[in-house]
Amino acid sequence: MNYHDFHQQSIRDPQGFWAKEAELIDWQRPFDKVLDYSNPPFTKWFVGGTTNLCHNAVDRWVESQGDKPALIAISTETNTEKVYTFRELQQEVMRAAAIMQALGVRKGDRVILYMPMIAEAAFAMLACARIGAIHSVVFGGFASHSLATRIDDAKPKLIISADAGSRGGKSVPYKPLLDEAIQLAAHKPEHVLLVDRGLVPMEMAPGRDLRYDALREERMHAEVPVTWLESNECSYVLYTSGTTGKPKGVQRDVGGYAVALASSMKTIFCGKPGDTYFSTSDIGWVVGHSYIVYGPLIAGMATIMYEGLPIRPDAGIWWSIVEKYRVTGMFSAPTAVRVLKKQPPELMKKHDLSSLKALYLAGEPLDETTSSWIANELNVPIIDNYWQTETGWPILTVARGVENTPTRLGSPGLPMYGYDVKLLNESTGEECGANEKGVLVIEGPLPPGCMQTVYGDDKRFINTYWSNFANRQVYSTFDWGIRDGDGYYFILGRTDDVINVAGHRLGTREIEESLSSHPNVSEVAVVGVEDKLKGQVAVAFAVLKNAEAASTPEGRKTLEAEMMAVVDKQLGAVARPSRVHFVTLLPKTRSGKLLRRSIQALCEGRDPGDLTTIEDPASLQQVREALAG
Ligand code: AMP
Repeated sequence: MNYHDFHQQSIRDPQGFWAKEAELIDWQRPFDKVLDYSNPPFTKWFVGGTTNLCHNAVDRWVESQGDKPALIAISTETNTEKVYTFRELQQEVMRAAAIMQALGVRKGDRVILYMPMIAEAAFAMLACARIGAIHSVVFGGFASHSLATRIDDAKPKLIISADAGSRGGKSVPYKPLLDEAIQLAAHKPEHVLLVDRGLVPMEMAPGRDLRYDALREERMHAEVPVTWLESNECSYVLYTSGTTGKPKGVQRDVGGYAVALASSMKTIFCGKPGDTYFSTSDIGWVVGHSYIVYGPLIAGMATIMYEGLPIRPDAGIWWSIVEKYRVTGMFSAPTAVRVLKKQPPELMKKHDLSSLKALYLAGEPLDETTSSWIANELNVPIIDNYWQTETGWPILTVARGVENTPTRLGSPGLPMYGYDVKLLNESTGEECGANEKGVLVIEGPLPPGCMQTVYGDDKRFINTYWSNFANRQVYSTFDWGIRDGDGYYFILGRTDDVINVAGHRLGTREIEESLSSHPNVSEVAVVGVEDKLKGQVAVAFAVLKNAEAASTPEGRKTLEAEMMAVVDKQLGAVARPSRVHFVTLLPKTRSGKLLRRSIQALCEGRDPGDLTTIEDPASLQQVREALAG
């Protein structure tokens, strides 16, 4: 079938289309109805069917290929490497599940995972899925304040963590950050389970803190049966940044997610049982959920979990992994490729990459130079794919498992099946024609695998995502897009205050809130500024309470360092602005709204745009001077 017809069928007859895709996974009880869209924009997929993510990712493969590799955990930080077969993975998952049960975790309870990229993190995710507990993985690079807001929203019964992560050979202690987060949070978890990697000493809170290893030792032969869940029960919550400082908990179901992953592994990522998949992301991000842990395993593939940098011990490390494990599909982000591009090319050429069939890139715009360079180096198709935490799997790309559609440089591709993608005029809500810029939206119902709601806040789900156009209820991606005459889409950046640093999504409001907690800050604006390596970086402009402190170059330097340290401590180094400039006035409209787009334009050396509503033009001059000086 050609892709156009495949897509059309999914939009015209979602019931028939997805009933067929649902055959890709195991159901304990068949569903009564494919889709219930009687209460838009809320979707219910595979109503009445019972299944389990862990069963589909692990148990169902134990019988047919129990001794084949399932999880390959590689760390160039600790120089460890371990291969778990499907059978061994099942055993480890049952041990983890038994520990959780012993600590009182039951179906529906939340478990926060604040973990480095170690095998135990995957065991814990799958163990939650097995017993119907809801996991919420918080990226290990986030610091105490970010973690505390997530603890208060998810109200976990248990938190699982480790003594430390490691970056560039240096330990990054997690336990002190976690202790501080728990202290900051109003909600207190009953227990904290800690994997001791032997990297740094841990101070244990008696009664609350427990060691994973000790509890595991007592449960080596644990058998924990799968808890069958109705397709629409919640599998996990993953927090993501938005326009407000309060992160949104993206809530996912069970059955729809399993079907979307099984289907996308086949049609988009072209994987099959026995293949090996290597995604360089982190379990703290959505790619880690969908395409490190669940997707490849659900498809019966081995998945590589990698802790380490792409250039350590040298820039050949990824390619040596590809060679050693005969990796068939690889998933990464453009920033990582740009990092590799600066390294000596021999390191790549040294390895036998003949097993590799394609490289998938996502998370941020893929520029043509980067794409052409890596295509040339690897000699495999480079597949850009555009999606979001909210959708869980690609919105735009090419489905080479259906038809070998050509890709187009600079474009992630075509709308994926199940997604009724449109571009709307920002003010009128009218559909845009070819080559006309608009907001990229999705007409409901969202396909299986997409977010069900904002955790604990249905109203916020509707208000945030579905209420951006007066005359129609559509899901807004908050991205600008354009479509060419052949139907290929191009992404032109965010419509909101979200920025994308090295493929990591950050809310500028969150960073502003953090900077505001510095005692000398009265007001601050953070904008995303184009960066050759990371795509974007955060740049801050602060108005001080006591401007005297910034009157000398040394004073400014000290203040800048202090403010960066505040962000490091509260949000984590991922959110640290690359520069903090000092001004006495911020560009605002007469109604007091920050003119972020104008500030951003000045930072990027562009025209500041429409300034008819500006309160005081002198503020722009200050921004210019700060940038110049
Ligand atoms: P996240 O939810 O962290 O995955 O971030 C999603 C956002 O990243 C999207 O809304 C886009 O702004 C951006 N993004 C993701 N993938 C791409 C891509 N392939 N091309 C351009 N932008 C992308």
